[in-house]
Amino acid sequence: MSAPDSFATRLAVLQTRLAAACLRAGRDPAEVALLPVSKTFGADRIREAAALGLRRFGESKMQEVRDKAAVLADCPVEWVVIGHLQTNKAKDAARLASEVQSLDRLDLAQALDRRLQQEGRTLDVLVQVKTSDEPGKYGLDPAALPAFVRTVARDYPSLRVRGLMTLAVNSDDTEAVRACFRALRGMRDRLRDEAIEGVDMRRLSMGMSGDFELAIQEGSTEVRIGSALFGARDYGAPDG
Ligand SMILES: *Cc1c(COP(=O)(O)O)cnc(C)c1O
Repeated sequence: MSAPDSFATRLAVLQTRLAAACLRAGRDPAEVALLPVSKTFGADRIREAAALGLRRFGESKMQEVRDKAAVLADCPVEWVVIGHLQTNKAKDAARLASEVQSLDRLDLAQALDRRLQQEGRTLDVLVQVKTSDEPGKYGLDPAALPAFVRTVARDYPSLRVRGLMTLAVNSDDTEAVRACFRALRGMRDRLRDEAIEGVDMRRLSMGMSGDFELAIQEGSTEVRIGSALFGARDYGAPDG
């Protein structure tokens, strides 16, 4: 048996909650992927998670990806970038990331595309959209989204647009949170109807530890879960 506070237990509890949220929303749990967010947690914790079958891990900072990728070179893990990506980190992302969910501007698209061509590979990307007025949140302005997606599809062929990502407003007001998710889904549906060549506008990365049940109700295809899985984060002193 696993200890009550072990990673295996937390994963099992989370999977039960995910399945229950899907059932309540009338959705098939197979439609909603779990992206474990391992930022600030050390390589040992990722190794433990990988041993339980998790493969993709969400990280916010390229420097952390570099450090962890070096230590975990023997471990079958993939790195998903979910945090603000500086243009001067495009080279690392093109080399190390299996996917970037925080594409939010054309200069980044251009830098990634150039580095990907050098690496001879393509990269799945989600476009991060700002769905609340909360200051300090990154993401593309919704009004700019359709033209942005068309431009990326046309000019940056190494990037394969697969959907949208957002962070909802951080609020106790359930309806305000829901409105963010609903807005993103509406944008995804409209873009999907446009059927832009080279774009598979299917995925909706939305929902975190505190709001994933709502996100699933609103059509999320992927929830990004950190603290509910790995425990509370300590930004001051990342554990080994
Ligand atoms: C940290 C982070 C998460 C996970 O947050 P939790 O509340 O710990 O689940 C999800 N998405 C993004 C973009 C993050 O930076």
